[in-house]
Amino acid sequence: MTSETVPTTTRAAALVRGYEVVIGFETHTQLSTRSKIFSRASTAFGAEPNTQACAVDLALPGTLPVMNRGAVERAIRFGLAIGAQIAPRSVFARKNYFYPDLPKGYQISQFEIPVVQGGQVEFFLDGEKRSVRLVRAHLEEDAGKSLHEEFAGQTGIDLNRAGTPLLEIVTEPDMRSSAEAVAYAKELHKIVTWIGICDGNMQEGSFRCDANVSVRKPGAPLGTRREIKNLNSFKFMQQAIDYEVRWQIEQIEDGHAIQQATVLFNPDTGETRAMRTKEDAADYRYFPDPDLPPLVIDGNWVQEIGARMPELPRAMSARFARGYSLSESEATQLTQSPTFAAYFEATVAAGANPKLASNWLSGEISRKLNAQEIEIGACPIKPAELADVILHLTTGTINSGGAKQLLELLWQRGPADVVVQLTGASATAEVVSVGALIESAGLRQIDDSGALEKIIDEVLTANPKSVDEFRQGKEKAFNALVGQIMKASRGKANPQEAGAMLRARLG
Ligand code: ADP
Ligand code: MG
Repeated sequence: MTSETVPTTTRAAALVRGYEVVIGFETHTQLSTRSKIFSRASTAFGAEPNTQACAVDLALPGTLPVMNRGAVERAIRFGLAIGAQIAPRSVFARKNYFYPDLPKGYQISQFEIPVVQGGQVEFFLDGEKRSVRLVRAHLEEDAGKSLHEEFAGQTGIDLNRAGTPLLEIVTEPDMRSSAEAVAYAKELHKIVTWIGICDGNMQEGSFRCDANVSVRKPGAPLGTRREIKNLNSFKFMQQAIDYEVRWQIEQIEDGHAIQQATVLFNPDTGETRAMRTKEDAADYRYFPDPDLPPLVIDGNWVQEIGARMPELPRAMSARFARGYSLSESEATQLTQSPTFAAYFEATVAAGANPKLASNWLSGEISRKLNAQEIEIGACPIKPAELADVILHLTTGTINSGGAKQLLELLWQRGPADVVVQLTGASATAEVVSVGALIESAGLRQIDDSGALEKIIDEVLTANPKSVDEFRQGKEKAFNALVGQIMKASRGKANPQEAGAMLRARLG
C-alpha cells in the first residue's frame, strides 16, 4: 500500500499538537460456523483444553485440509454487504512462522488473491458521513492459544481454537482520529453481527481489532506505523490509540524516529508496549498451499446469497430517517440491531407516533435495558404495550411522568400477574391492558380545571415568596411554582394546562 491510495480530498482532520493522526485497521472476525475452516472439529467456545482439536488441527502427518463451505458463504455475505468484489478465483497460501501454538509451522491464509476485494464501510460521526475504504477481506485459520496463567511457571497450549475460521478485514489508512476508528469498528461490528456471520462476542475474542497508528505533519508522506494488537473492547481501543498517538508525538518531538513495531495495550497501566519489531511479508515466506486447490466461486451462488441478504443497517436507517422523519442519529440508534429495529417497527405498527416511539425506546427503555444488562429481545414490555403507553400520552390520559411510572409497572410485572394484582383480571392474560393499569395505579393525568384550580390555590397560599418574586419579574419563580403544583398533584397534573392556568391566575 502506498500513500497514493490515501484520498487527497479528505476533510480537514483535527490535529493533535500539530500532527495528523493516520489509522488503518485489521480486524479478525471469527466466523460463526459450527465446525472449523478445514476440519470437522467443533468451534464451540469454552471447552476443556484440547478436546476440540482433531488430527487436522493438530497437524498430524498425512492429514489434509477440506474447505468448509459455510465459511466461504459467510465471506461472500460480508463482501456483498460492503459493496466489494467477490473474487471468482482466490488462493490459499501458507504463512510460515514458528510459535508453540502453531503445530503445522504455518497458518493457512490468503495472500496475493483474497476472496473479498475492495468495498467500504460507511457511518456517521458527529452527524457527518464518513467512509472507510477496505483493501480486502481474506479467509484464514486461527492458531491455538498459550495459557500462561494456570500453570505456575509453565505454559500450556490449548489447540481448541486452532483451525477456527477467521475473516481478516483490512482497511486503507483512512481514519484520522481515535473517535473515527472506534466509530468504524462499531459499524463493522454491527455489520458482521447483523448479517449473521459472527457472534460479535468481543470478550471471547470473536471480534479482535489491530489498530495501525502513525502520525505526520499535515501534507507530509505517511509516517511509520506501530500496530496495536488484539484490541477486544471499544473502550480500550480508544484509550490505546490515544496513548499511542501521544507517545509517538513525544518521541518525534524529542528527536527520535518511530520504529515499525507490534505493540500490546495494557489496560491496567493504560500504556502500549512494544512486543516485537514488525515482520515484513517476506519474513513469512508465503507460497500457495499445495494441499488446497484454488477457491472457485460460481457467480450463480453469489447471486443466490445476494437474494437472501437482509436489509442492511445503513439502508434501514436511511429508510427510517426518511419514512419516519427522524434524524440520522435517531435512526442509527434504532438500527443498533435487527431486533431493536424490529421492536421499533412493531411499536409504530401498533399505532405509536414514530418520533415518540424513537424517543422512548432510545431513552427510558434503553436505560432500563442497560441497567439490567439485557437485550431488547428480552424486554419485559411488549411493543404493543409501549405503543399503548405512547397513545395514552399523546391523547393526554397521562403525562410523561405518568408514562415513566407506567413503564416501570409494566417492567416490574411477572409474566402476566400485574393484571391479576392491579385489575383482578384473568391470570392467563398475556398483554396488560394499559388503560386499566392507568386507572388501577391512579396515574391518570389531572386536567380537570376544577381539580387543578384547587391545587393551584393551595400552592399559591403555601408559597407567597415565589408569588412575590414572580410579580417582580422573576421567571424562575414561575417554574418553581409549576414544580410545586406537580409535587402537590404527585406528578399527575397536566403541566401545560397547570402552567397556563397559573399564568392566568397571576395575571
Ligand atoms: P502489512 O500487511 O505488512 O501489515 P499493510 O500494508 O497490509 O501491511 O497494512 C496493514 C494495515 O496498516 C492496513 O490496515 C493499512 O491501512 C495500515 N497502514 C499502512 N500504512 C499505515 C500508516 N503509515 N499509518 C497507519 N496505518 C497504516
Ligand atoms: Mg497485514
